[in-house]
Amino acid sequence: MLDNVKAQGYQVVTNTSELAALTTADQDSPVLGLFSSGNMPRQFQATIPTEDGAQRDATRCELNPERTDSLPDLAQMTTKAIELLDRSAKGDDTGFFLQVEGASIDKADHSADACGQIGELDDLDQAIQAVRAWVASSGEPTLIVATADHAHTSQITSDGQPTAGRTTRLLTADGAPMVISYATAASNSHDDALGGQNHTGAQLRIAAEGPGAENVVGQLDQTDLHYLIAGSLGLDTSATLSAGSFALADKPELPEQLSAQPSTPEATTSPSAGQAAGPGKGDGSVQAGKAAKPAKGSLARTGAAVLAPALIATAAVGGGLALRRRRFC
Ligand SMILES: [Zn+2]
Repeated sequence: MLDNVKAQGYQVVTNTSELAALTTADQDSPVLGLFSSGNMPRQFQATIPTEDGAQRDATRCELNPERTDSLPDLAQMTTKAIELLDRSAKGDDTGFFLQVEGASIDKADHSADACGQIGELDDLDQAIQAVRAWVASSGEPTLIVATADHAHTSQITSDGQPTAGRTTRLLTADGAPMVISYATAASNSHDDALGGQNHTGAQLRIAAEGPGAENVVGQLDQTDLHYLIAGSLGLDTSATLSAGSFALADKPELPEQLSAQPSTPEATTSPSAGQAAGPGKGDGSVQAGKAAKPAKGSLARTGAAVLAPALIATAAVGGGLALRRRRFC
């Protein structure tokens, strides 16, 4: 795979210093960061819940020595992504879309690893703060949206109260005990409980800040986020993908339809498809790039217009953070 992406002009970086040294990224020279051969080490060492965990002495999460400075954290990756996208977008009014995911919050939850998921959530929080700091310093009108793609098994339960599953008793930063229960595995056996915890169906929070955030109110359908994002970039949500879509195997020459006005029937409305506007560079799965030239859009499902230039982000308990921005013309 590395040979393939390098042959297509990708800049491949594998550690913090290589990431920091990047100065440009565009469709002719995209960036691929691969910093670990598997899941990246989490901020805190793993904790193992027990059936009597709620009655045990509370412990604190401990830093994971495997996470060294040679590995960038999520905030560093996010900051670099914005730097590159912002530089790439200079001189035009297209802005950009960026999605950031705290990927191992979910994985740690499946493993019933309380400190693992707390560290991952802290990483995601720091990534969001990095975005907010950039918005504050740059003055760019930017919409940030944070949400999750699903809920998960972990629950804070009563101190000292055993549950049907396994529990971990932690000491919070305030010095108070906090009990976390995991009770969605097939059994409490080591093999089942420490890898077999499952997603749950709780409703999810959507938090937003910036131009367009006023549309994140009440109860939204999951698909409303699409219209929020498309509306914020001024994309035509009535256009269809089929006419402008293409397969990677087709290796098209810079498809004109991907840079066309979204108001034309051939135009794509997908930010990800718009990002794929490079010669054979992708199939629309790339998660960051310049958006299509914006036209006036609306939030079809909510009926609320989003006229302010903006960007989007999505974060998660199992998910991540996506953001995009559109410059004022
Ligand atoms: Zn999962």
